[in-house]
Amino acid sequence: MKGIFPIDKLEQIQTPYYYYDMELLRATLHSINKELQKHDEFVVHYAVKANANPKILRIIREAGLGADCVSGGEIEAALKAGFPANKIVFAGVGKSDWEINLGLDNDIFSFNVESIPELEVINELAEKKGKVARIALRINPNVGAHTHANITTGLAENKFGIAMNDMETVIERASAMQNVRFVGLHFHIGSQILDMGDFEALCNRINELQIQLENHHIRVENINVGGGLGVDYQHPNRVPIPDFKAYFDTYARKLKLRPNQTLHFELGRAVVAQCGSLISRTLYIKEGASKKFCIIDAGMTDLIRPALYQAYHKIENISSEESMETYDVVGPICESSDVFAKQIDLNGSHRGDLIAIRSAGAYGESMASQYNCRRLPQGYTSDEI
Ligand SMILES: *Cc1c(COP(=O)(O)O)cnc(C)c1O
Repeated sequence: MKGIFPIDKLEQIQTPYYYYDMELLRATLHSINKELQKHDEFVVHYAVKANANPKILRIIREAGLGADCVSGGEIEAALKAGFPANKIVFAGVGKSDWEINLGLDNDIFSFNVESIPELEVINELAEKKGKVARIALRINPNVGAHTHANITTGLAENKFGIAMNDMETVIERASAMQNVRFVGLHFHIGSQILDMGDFEALCNRINELQIQLENHHIRVENINVGGGLGVDYQHPNRVPIPDFKAYFDTYARKLKLRPNQTLHFELGRAVVAQCGSLISRTLYIKEGASKKFCIIDAGMTDLIRPALYQAYHKIENISSEESMETYDVVGPICESSDVFAKQIDLNGSHRGDLIAIRSAGAYGESMASQYNCRRLPQGYTSDEI
């Protein structure tokens, strides 16, 4: 063992691959459930896009969470993992007909609708099946989040959701339709949010919108505030479990729920990020003109976040106890952006050493691609190796 890693076992597996610490995943889920016990009206849906590995999904389903899906494929993955359909919500700006039909056939909890044209199509498809689809409207609250621009979703300029000004018109349109039933409002302001003030701003906005609707005698059954709680990428060992208490308490304090309203959350990253590491092997140490490159066999095809969002991941050489040296850690892909970190300290590294890229459980395996005809990375859990 070095740190959390069973090195002897990890050595046996063909790199690169994801390794999931299931003890940490279970502890994280336990921490969520402990907070939920204090808030009867709270319901958490796991955002499947963060990690759709069936072994991970099964544990999350066993912990009692629902599923938040953004595609038909994710609905299929969630159903296959045993999530009950009445705990599945379906979001996304561009739902295709087969995806909507899949949701209808399974009577999912709700479609989070992002436009009038989508509403019309859901109504039409539901009518053909003689069903009534439960719909929530995704409202763009024009609330910023202190996070990377590429993962901000709640600003007026973003493609997501229905503008606040149009909210009542769309609710009226929905109410006039025979095959949809308006059940809630949905929001999601972004991802990797650590400032509780951002969630407070969302709560304040929702409070205003609820008053506005009540003034027009419109009742909302449930509020869905999306996800977005961040994790500590700098300190995966010191802060392995996000501060769920602070997160849920913020909503309990600031959001004015009405009697019998339920409050839904869609947490992805916060559930799975810290339990996963991308394990890879050092191929070569290359001495550049002014620096050393640690070239590993994992690349941006396995974990794209650094290339896509300039995301930071802590990187460790888990095979070496040598004194620290400074490296650029890079992958083998034919793209200059295939860099995991520049000028970081690693224990003196050599060909064959195992390199762990930490906090990679969310948006890692699920975003992997086969660019350069590479194999998709496999995921292994601590339960099975
Ligand atoms: C991605 C997404 C989430 C999950 O976001 P996290 O930052 O991983 O918690 C929740 N809801 C919607 C609609 C999303 O698109």
